[in-house]
Amino acid sequence: MNVLVINCGSSSLKYQLINTDDESVLAKGLVERIGIEGSLLKHEKTGLDKLVIEEPLKNHKDAINLVLKTLLDEKYGAVKSLDEIDAVGHRVVHGGEKFASSVLIDDEVIEAMKECIGLAPLHNPPNIIGIEACKELLPDVPMVGVFDTAFHQTMPPVSFIYPLPYDLYEELKIRRYGFHGTSHKYVSERLAQITGKSLEGTKIVTCHLGNGASLTAVKDGKSFDTSMGMTPLEGLVMGTRCGDIDPAIVTFLMMKQGMTAEEVDNLMNKKSGVLGISGVSNDFRDIEAEADKGNKKAELALDKFAYSVKKYIGAYAAAMGGLDYLVFTAGLGENSAPARKQICEGLEFLGVEIDEEKNKIRGKEAEISKDGSKVRVFVIPTNEELMIARDTKELTCK
Ligand code: AMP
Repeated sequence: MNVLVINCGSSSLKYQLINTDDESVLAKGLVERIGIEGSLLKHEKTGLDKLVIEEPLKNHKDAINLVLKTLLDEKYGAVKSLDEIDAVGHRVVHGGEKFASSVLIDDEVIEAMKECIGLAPLHNPPNIIGIEACKELLPDVPMVGVFDTAFHQTMPPVSFIYPLPYDLYEELKIRRYGFHGTSHKYVSERLAQITGKSLEGTKIVTCHLGNGASLTAVKDGKSFDTSMGMTPLEGLVMGTRCGDIDPAIVTFLMMKQGMTAEEVDNLMNKKSGVLGISGVSNDFRDIEAEADKGNKKAELALDKFAYSVKKYIGAYAAAMGGLDYLVFTAGLGENSAPARKQICEGLEFLGVEIDEEKNKIRGKEAEISKDGSKVRVFVIPTNEELMIARDTKELTCK
């Protein structure tokens, strides 16, 4: 069957058309600047050059319309009729406590997603707009919602509760939810396939290190703890997000510097992390290049990032009572040998021993630990779209 996977952001939309029989990508693309001047679609049919279409797109419905039209194009398209799209899988950022797994979308589910908007005011609205636009344009095609938070719903209370008055959890649902769940789930399941071992009885730390970054302690194949919290701001030092800081800094900036809540929010989400420390960029490639030239702040940013990942690995090994596997994924995790080396250095006491030669790989599946390393270390490129397509197939093929 053919599944159209859709990931709607506030002004962008990523898509992939996947044939789930052989899990091949028939076509994929990205629509940018939706609702802004200069809207464009970049489309790629497998085996052909990229196609760029510049066209005014006033909203997500226009964008999805253009995607469908392009998928039907004689040269660049992948289907002859829209009937060949059997189902649509949507990425949804926040499922709150309501969704512990993917779900077939109906009106009731859309209402429940709307109830989660308060928890993810920036992310959930565009996700819902995408779903509603697809419903209008493909009314007879079943749709599935796949939530970033769902995998982490297995976290025990001791992992998800904040040490705040309990009423805040009961009344406002303030708790830790975690994100990147589709990616953490994908790489842990892929690890089981690669090693040929069941996840039952295993202790894994999955490291999703991209512009947004999170670690998950995966025990018996389930999320036991994860570094992001109620929002994706908690946890590791990231590209532009600060991760864990003393919460008193927020009130300090508001009371002493007269900053508004919005300004502090913007500072912590968009101006901090490795960008904030280095003053160079949020892209690790730029920072690595600057550090190589002797830029001390760039070096400090990289050191702080690696140190924060290392500390979480140690914490999760302690939380699970041991560590069997370490998995690196996402932009930096898949591509940066220096980052992986720096993170693993000093973890020999836990049984983590990286093989420098094996570590010199980029963007492909490989074991990078030394033969005999007590903790086996892998690089596994993530594939959230495939995971969404698989869940969509499972829920619509009954
Ligand atoms: P993602 O959010 O998973 O798309 O990851 C994007 C980030 O990965 C970029 O901002 C880069 O910082 C990082 N990245 C990608 N390729 C490399 C590379 N070859 N070396 C270092 N960092 C990389």
